[in-house]
Amino acid sequence: MKQVLCIISIFALNLYAQQSKQPIIDMHLHCYDQTNYFVAPDQYGKIAPQNVDEHFNQTYELMKKYNIVKGVISGPFNAVNNWMDRDNDRRFIRGISMFAPGEIDTVQFEKWVKEKKIEIFGEIGAVYEGYSLDHPGYEPYLRICEKYDIPVAIHTGGGPPKITYIGRPNFRLLKGDPLLLEDVLVKFPKLRMYMMHAGEVFYERALRMMGLYPQLYVDLGVLLWVHPMTKSYAKDFLKKAKEFGFIDRVMFGSDQMVWPHGIEMSLEQLESFDFLTQDEKRDILYNNPARFLKLSQDEIDAHHNQ
Ligand SMILES: [Zn+2]
Repeated sequence: MKQVLCIISIFALNLYAQQSKQPIIDMHLHCYDQTNYFVAPDQYGKIAPQNVDEHFNQTYELMKKYNIVKGVISGPFNAVNNWMDRDNDRRFIRGISMFAPGEIDTVQFEKWVKEKKIEIFGEIGAVYEGYSLDHPGYEPYLRICEKYDIPVAIHTGGGPPKITYIGRPNFRLLKGDPLLLEDVLVKFPKLRMYMMHAGEVFYERALRMMGLYPQLYVDLGVLLWVHPMTKSYAKDFLKKAKEFGFIDRVMFGSDQMVWPHGIEMSLEQLESFDFLTQDEKRDILYNNPARFLKLSQDEIDAHHNQ
């Protein structure tokens, strides 16, 4: 019996090693500079790296370790530039964070899009300022994104404990409801959008929206590691996504924030789901994001030959 268990665990480890050598795309990373970095414990009490350089180094090392060939980074424009300057392996895809409408001048926004200084509009943290994406203030940005075929990454679901009391008084959980994206998808039918956090507490609504709007993708950002509650949502969401035939629109994302180890925890959690086949995990970890991002066949081939 002992021997059988041993063989099984070696087999499982081999599978993991095999999987980890394959390329991975992380659709949900956060970048920082001196102005927005903070040191705090995660939900389990593990403290963030002591400074912004250490945080970058740890994130980049984990990307190398797990062969994360591409990662969407979001943060303020200067923080994104800071990370792009240090991206020796060209792993990053440039996002930009925005909360309330008007935070970025729309003329400037279009200029950055044209110059490829914005490749993805997001993470849009509308909910943190008490907005949902169907507020008219977001329309000029969304129009530009549709015109230039720039993907939109919208935060769905909740936020961390006490968020309304510490820094974001306008945060309202209800604004993170995926159903509130419907008017946006009606108004901008060609928009390439993904729901970050797969709806989180509203994951069944996220699935319903995916049923109605076949262009809509999700990322698993934060769900796979940050809290036992979100890990439970992730499991339920993925089981239903599989049952409904939507796995081909689910993308891996870690949402490591200031805790690089979130990347590792997310990968381990996804790997632990034995209701998903290795092929389905491969789709989530690479094939679905590659399709959503419209990577060229040359780029895809290069990722598999590294
Ligand atoms: Zn995030």
